[in-house]
Amino acid sequence: MRPSQRSPTMHAPRRKSCQALLPDGETPCSATFRGWGKYCTPHLEECAQLSGQFKDAAARAERLRRTGELTEKQVRALTNAASVDRAIDRVRQYLEALNEENRTRAALLGRFPAEKDERHMQRLTVVEERKTACSALIEQLQQHREEVLTRSQQRRERYRDPSQSNPERQPLLGRPRRSRRVWIFLLVLVLVVIPTVFMIAVLLSISTGSQEFPPISI
Ligand SMILES: [Zn+2]
Repeated sequence: MRPSQRSPTMHAPRRKSCQALLPDGETPCSATFRGWGKYCTPHLEECAQLSGQFKDAAARAERLRRTGELTEKQVRALTNAASVDRAIDRVRQYLEALNEENRTRAALLGRFPAEKDERHMQRLTVVEERKTACSALIEQLQQHREEVLTRSQQRRERYRDPSQSNPERQPLLGRPRRSRRVWIFLLVLVLVVIPTVFMIAVLLSISTGSQEFPPISI
């Protein structure tokens, strides 16, 4: 800075007030400065630092979005608890990145309200919507995890006890054999026992009859 600029020109028209707020978010910075921009040098640096933070967070959120957003079909395609757990972790990482972006953008705008513009406000709305979607997706995945566990439990039970899986199997294994034995018994009864008893009865009646009516002697 040249000595001529350092001269006491406190109320010179070209000297500007810094538009930053102090960390309390309410008190305006009392510094004045010359030159382009809206902030005194320390606040210009702070603004650049906070901008860098939200840009990093936004880039990370966009990177994680690819694995942090799942369609209904993609959720259904997760067929074991481990893969559902991995998906939940990825959605949580994505949600954390969105939270970080939200926090850093809010920090910037809280201290440097002059930065507030349509682009920031639109992005904050989008971030808020995506955060809500993440929470819903995590809940959906947790429910899906329960269903996956229930299905695999049912499969294990079927494997251990095959009769449970198909109630029609049991009659095929047990009952027909029993009924077949009954049928064979009935067949033997009809074809052998009853005729035999009948024959014996007939023979007995013949022999009794021949004793009661002895043959006429000639
Ligand atoms: Zn300042």
